[in-house]
Amino acid sequence: MEEAELSSNTTILTQPRIQPEDVREDNTFRPKTFSDFIGQTATKQNLEILIQATQERQQTLEHILFYGPPGLGKTSLAYVVAQALGVQIKITSGPALERAGDVASILCNLSPGSIFFIDEIHRLNRTVEEVLYPAMEDFAFDIVLGKGPAAKTLRLDLPRFTLIGATTRIGQLSAPLRDRFGGHFHLDFYEIGDIEKILARSAKIMAAPLETTGAKEVARRSRRTPRIANRLLRRVRDYAQVHRERVITAEIASRALELLRIDPFGLDKIDRELLATIANKFQGGPVGLSTIAASLGEDMQTIEEVYEPYLIREGWLERTPRGRKTTARSAEVL
Ligand code: ADP
Repeated sequence: MEEAELSSNTTILTQPRIQPEDVREDNTFRPKTFSDFIGQTATKQNLEILIQATQERQQTLEHILFYGPPGLGKTSLAYVVAQALGVQIKITSGPALERAGDVASILCNLSPGSIFFIDEIHRLNRTVEEVLYPAMEDFAFDIVLGKGPAAKTLRLDLPRFTLIGATTRIGQLSAPLRDRFGGHFHLDFYEIGDIEKILARSAKIMAAPLETTGAKEVARRSRRTPRIANRLLRRVRDYAQVHRERVITAEIASRALELLRIDPFGLDKIDRELLATIANKFQGGPVGLSTIAASLGEDMQTIEEVYEPYLIREGWLERTPRGRKTTARSAEVL
């Protein structure tokens, strides 16, 4: 295969949001138990205490909210919690729940104690959000019969359940919804060492001959995000296979990733363009988000939700009340 062919999709590879090819792969690599779930130690410990205490009291687990950037393991944790409790899990997402009836049909069919997982919960519409309030609080669903002054409300009892919500934007959640969750857990970017362990586990699952040095190289460029790390590993594995390399060393990983235009810091084309725009067009800033978005031809939400968290966390970008600024670190590499 021509080497240039491998360099397609460069911007997608480091995009932490789920991509079509991840849907199947995410399930293959998804940790099933707390011991499989690497990193996020404090969150895991708190969850385990919550679960044990609930089980000892023979109650239903409180509703839980996971928040943080995409690809860090929010959905995986929901599965792990269900497994630890030994209960069923029903998965959906905010935009998929269009009408109150969608929620009713799911909740009525849950077996008692089940987990109802709503991804992107900040994208629920108002009607659906309002039917969730009594469902979360009283395990009840209110049906309004008729219209106007003659309307009557019929209360339907639901099985007890635990709602697990996941969001990348906790600030967009309404206060009444946020307050109905008993536990709030923030997932942060992983330590590089944890990403290396995740890669070693994934390599084992896909029987890829990944050396420790190769794992280090992939981890370094993964934006400290498990979904991206696994995605890069798949591409590096392909490279090694096509080039008849028996083991994935740091050098092989580095060659494959350079071909994919992922730099040693894990910055991709859009990251670099974003930083360069602020540095060159706006003399390092501060510059407003909308101006940056217009300049890059990207939408503001994607920049704020997907690109900025990592850039800010790693000291490439600074968010000030007057706008975004580049930092001393970014000045060094631009
Ligand atoms: P989110 O819901 O936050 O977008 P996911 O739970 O879908 O993220 O995680 C994406 C993929 O990353 C999972 O399929 C899994 O392969 C991997 N992953 C995430 N967190 C971990 C972890 N702590 N340990 C091992 N693999 C993980």
